[in-house]
Amino acid sequence: MSRNKTLIMIKPTAVRKGFIGPIMAKINEGGFKIHAMKYTQLTLEQARAFYAVHKDRPFYGELTEFMSSGPIVAAILVKDNAVESWRNYIGATNPAEAAEGTIRKLYGTSLGENAVHGSDSDDNAEIEGSFFFSATERF
Ligand code: ADP
Ligand code: MG
Repeated sequence: MSRNKTLIMIKPTAVRKGFIGPIMAKINEGGFKIHAMKYTQLTLEQARAFYAVHKDRPFYGELTEFMSSGPIVAAILVKDNAVESWRNYIGATNPAEAAEGTIRKLYGTSLGENAVHGSDSDDNAEIEGSFFFSATERF
């Protein structure tokens, strides 16, 4: 995966609250194209693997239990400079600190339940994209 792709998720609380549609509309408005997308639920083991980079952080248990608590939407989005562009578009990790109009400000519930994920580097976008999608699921 190159500089134009990022892996995103719509997290369980946002799905539960009916925000898939509004967040998809924001994805379109932001000029992000869909390369791959699925509606799925992570097992606890899968969530622990996905967030292994955070395994020593105090919130790892809470995070992985939450992320496996219900269905999510996972997608690979395409745009120039996709990783940074998406992170700017969704706002700060804590929705209370996110800028007005950002996805986390609009649809986030709390620091942990902050509506969406975004890869933090091109290398991790590649790793995270391959976590969810095979070659035949990308268009
Ligand atoms: P980001 O998602 O903005 O890249 P991090 O990679 O630092 O943020 O953290 C991953 C996810 O872990 C966050 O999106 C959030 O859901 C959760 N998280 C981060 N910090 C905390 C915290 N202090 N308490 C609870 N959950 C947290
Ligand atoms: Mg991160």
